[in-house]
Amino acid sequence: MTRARMPRPHEVAAARKDPRLLRAFDERQDDVAWRTRGVCQTVDPETFFPAPSEPADTAVALCRTCEVQGACLAWALEAGDCHGVWGATTPRERRAMLVAWRTETATDVPNNQSTVLELIPKQRTTLDLVDRVAS
Ligand code: SF4
Repeated sequence: MTRARMPRPHEVAAARKDPRLLRAFDERQDDVAWRTRGVCQTVDPETFFPAPSEPADTAVALCRTCEVQGACLAWALEAGDCHGVWGATTPRERRAMLVAWRTETATDVPNNQSTVLELIPKQRTTLDLVDRVAS
């Protein structure tokens, strides 16, 4: 058994510009309802899990016609799953994407900070109410 090597910096840099990864950033979702709309729902699942020595072309081609490939790739990167074809990517392609994904998503605004930001309009509403009562 061979171990996968770490992606090199130039591979990660290239992955950051890959349209498939950019689409995954745009289309990531919290729920997995997208799965029901996947083209793979109507195809033998084995197609998407070729042996390492087999080409993944058929699966990748099917994914390229799939309307949820961005959400699918986002899910695979979030899960860190490195087996099979997801969102028109092979496991090898996803290794570099995974480094880029984890770097980018680690700098996202955490959920608790967005809650603080959501409070600002409420504070304004409360101040408006105080103003209205005082006048
Ligand atoms: S992108 Fe590929 S693996 Fe993902 S849901 Fe679509 S067909 Fe299935």
